[in-house]
Amino acid sequence: MKLIVQKFGGSSVRDAARIQNVANIIADTYKAGNNVLVVLSAQGDTTDDLIAKAAEINPRASKREMDMLLSTGEQISIALCAMALEKMGLPVISLAAWQVGIYTTNTYSDARIRKINRERIQNELDKRKIVLVAGFQGINRRGDVTTLGRGGSDTSAVALAANFNADLCQIYTDVDGVYTTDPRIVPEAVKLPEITYDEMLELASQGAQVLHNRSVELAKKYHVNMEVVSSLERKSGTKVKEVVKMEKTTIAGVAKDTSVSQIALIGLQDNPGVAFRIFSDLSRAGINVDTIIQSIGREETKDISFTLSSKDVETALETLEKAKDTLDYDHIDVDNDVGKVSIVGAGIMTTPGVAAKMFEALYDANINIKRINTSEIRVSVIIDASEVDRAVKAVHAKFFGEE
Ligand code: ASP
Ligand code: MG
Repeated sequence: MKLIVQKFGGSSVRDAARIQNVANIIADTYKAGNNVLVVLSAQGDTTDDLIAKAAEINPRASKREMDMLLSTGEQISIALCAMALEKMGLPVISLAAWQVGIYTTNTYSDARIRKINRERIQNELDKRKIVLVAGFQGINRRGDVTTLGRGGSDTSAVALAANFNADLCQIYTDVDGVYTTDPRIVPEAVKLPEITYDEMLELASQGAQVLHNRSVELAKKYHVNMEVVSSLERKSGTKVKEVVKMEKTTIAGVAKDTSVSQIALIGLQDNPGVAFRIFSDLSRAGINVDTIIQSIGREETKDISFTLSSKDVETALETLEKAKDTLDYDHIDVDNDVGKVSIVGAGIMTTPGVAAKMFEALYDANINIKRINTSEIRVSVIIDASEVDRAVKAVHAKFFGEE
């Protein structure tokens, strides 16, 4: 008998009708003779609403209590969906993370899964029950509730699929797969029948919000057979796997990220160890830096600038201001009006001229590149935030045709 893990996102369980729709999908999978392990997100905007509620009472609430609050959303979903399946006469049980034993690290609001107990879920599956597990949540060693970070239910699903050696892990959402770029910006975007883990990982980290990037990391590590499908239309989605057939184009897609900021330290001493001190302080503060540029300043000084996620700007500034005495810079510039556009594709590595083609598209559109950053399978440019959508259109047209 096959084991299929199915994860349904917030929009797929938004209201009673959508929950019934999800219950139908689960029921069909079950009746086809499979064991079914389901992971659900909180309904619609529940998590955002809970965050807003907390802010009304205490904008500086501790992360522990935030996790206690936010984890309730997923529990509502699994109980409601279990009720829908009960009504259909199907054997079902819903389980919160503490009941399963989904153990995580202690970092509230950004915990990592360490271990999942198999016993409870396996017992229920052996009784031919449909098992519904609350996504996004776990417990730490003390048994306190933790959450995996926004969008974390994808990771719950893949971790369960890996742990139970599932035959397939389906991520159901309100889009029907992974596209060459955001179809809301570029109507000509096409759905990819398949994509590699690495491409998906880069797309997810570069702002394509289809999947939580840690879920893709896990899927790659444990070779989880993963698929992104629509819960609203029954048609084929996108398979995420190790190797895919190369299509005519060399890139899988174009991604954008507008939650990028740039920080520049102006007038640093031109001595050894300066960059080391800056970036080790930042990494100790838990900040991921993206692109870095060092340039020569005036009179024996240098400037170092870098980009980072906008949500980290405040912490980065605090960290750098604390180190002002030792770093001895003149001043700090912050620019929030930047954005990033990336092309991603396993073929970039082996095909010459891919980056040049992207730069040409931007040149033709008269968009100025502020910074460039590459990995083996990605080329990213930092540009003015106001030009991001136009850049996505131009680059997509260059690689996939049409305008
Ligand atoms: N409900 C959580 C969130 O909105 C987790 C998830 O949906 O994956 O971030
Ligand atoms: Mg999501």
